[in-house]
Amino acid sequence: MAQEDIFKKVVSHCKEYGFVFPSSEIYDGLGAVYDYGQNGVELKNNIKQYWWQSMVLLHDNIVGIDSCIFMHPTIWKASGHVDAFNDPLIDNRDSKKRYRADVLIEDQIAKYDEKIEKEVAKARKRFGDAFDEAQYRSTSPKVKEDQEKRDALHERYSKAMNAMDLDELRQIILDEEIVCPISGTRNWTEVRQFNLMFKTEVGSTADGASTIYLRPETAQGIFVNYLNVQKTGRMKIPFGIAQIGKAFRNEIVARQFIFRMREFEQMEMQFFIKPGTELDWFRKWKETRMAWHQNLGFGAENYRFHDHEKLAHYANAAADIEFKMPFGFKEVEGIHSRTNFDLSQHAKFSGKKIEYFDPEINESYTPYVIETSIGVDRMFLSVMCHSYCEETLEDGQSRVVLRLPAALAPVKLAVFPLTKKDGLPEKAHAIIDDLKFHFNCKYEEKDQIGKRYRRQDAIGTPFCVTVDNQTLEDDTVTLRYRDTMEQKRIPISEIRNIVEDQVTITSLLKRLK
Ligand code: ATP
Repeated sequence: MAQEDIFKKVVSHCKEYGFVFPSSEIYDGLGAVYDYGQNGVELKNNIKQYWWQSMVLLHDNIVGIDSCIFMHPTIWKASGHVDAFNDPLIDNRDSKKRYRADVLIEDQIAKYDEKIEKEVAKARKRFGDAFDEAQYRSTSPKVKEDQEKRDALHERYSKAMNAMDLDELRQIILDEEIVCPISGTRNWTEVRQFNLMFKTEVGSTADGASTIYLRPETAQGIFVNYLNVQKTGRMKIPFGIAQIGKAFRNEIVARQFIFRMREFEQMEMQFFIKPGTELDWFRKWKETRMAWHQNLGFGAENYRFHDHEKLAHYANAAADIEFKMPFGFKEVEGIHSRTNFDLSQHAKFSGKKIEYFDPEINESYTPYVIETSIGVDRMFLSVMCHSYCEETLEDGQSRVVLRLPAALAPVKLAVFPLTKKDGLPEKAHAIIDDLKFHFNCKYEEKDQIGKRYRRQDAIGTPFCVTVDNQTLEDDTVTLRYRDTMEQKRIPISEIRNIVEDQVTITSLLKRLK
């Protein structure tokens, strides 16, 4: 199936099975805002648990906080967001559609890449085993020409972005003859800067209301609490502060479902270290975070690092972890070496001394920071895209199955009475009453067993149990596995062990290296 089709199917599956709904749907929705449904919230909570526990439980030098969305407006002056948290936007005069100039150019670069890869794939097919890819890339006139054009465009674009040269960005769009996908024309406006922060007012107007912002990242809530946590927790460097919470960005172009939202959730950890050790810690956190992702078993080939060439003004190293979504490799997490920029800025703007006295060297300094920052919603999307699977079975029937890692699945065990009579429903309820303290169980009695299995497959439930008349005699049930569809008879007393062993977050954490 084409990747685009898979993505469309994932989006409609999310809606049909209670994972993600468009926000305010009965009012025709609200752009780039989504709600999580009854299954979505469970999956999302499990992702958050996996992250939180891997940070706070597995590291005795990392603690958590929960800071507010509203913060003192000067924080955003100090962090640079008021002046520099901008995207370059451009409008097409004919379609009246708005685009990010940088995204239009990046898409153009991706088109060159695609063209080159297509040529290489064609040649690989033609030459078979004798194919020497490196030689082909360096000798094929077609590939060489496209590669040169691509590299030149990339260089020009990087320069323009580094200098935030808006005229040059527009000129690149014109020179590359990029057209609006809606109107098909090149009738572009000037490129303008657009600040992504949402503003609101605190206090009544009569009292003199002041403008505050909805936080565009959770990180600043950690920085401004650095002293509180370090002192009250008697934390010694190196140590980290983790936080999960909502962030808001007025994204110009909201695309690709929950990939780019205006209200989303972040899981961020700021790791405070001694200056000079940052590149070592940066490497370590890159490895640790990649291991966390790969531990889900989606295949190492679906991840890659993207090291930043263009660094933010505060960073001295940065890399993204990208995951292969149906629409290409995309950033899911950023790992940044932020130097002492944030703490120094807050010291400057607040007038407070924000330092650490290091007893080992008998000196005070402003700690450096390594940040790991991952979007819950992007992570959710990557899990859904990878798990969605359409299968043709041996009997020719088909099924849709979400092959979710069992520890992330919304429901762990579904319990079915074979029929609605003879005391079978009561027996099924009794099993759930016993197990519901340990993991999420669901009772289902509607429709034939086969249909009930399909419904559970579609939401990724790893185990189903059927109660029948034999159960009343010998306390055994049929256990059915989601992935293999294998069924076996087991005593009720064994259900807990079999299921629990695979569905807890702890089981996932134990596999982390
Ligand atoms: P992008 O380049 O895609 O806009 P970014 O580099 O601005 O992302 P960061 O500021 O590093 O993103 O934020 C950290 C993480 O937060 C990202 O890796 C992503 O998972 C998530 N994130 C950022 N913006 C959004 C958004 N609009 N919707 C959903 N998740 C987001």
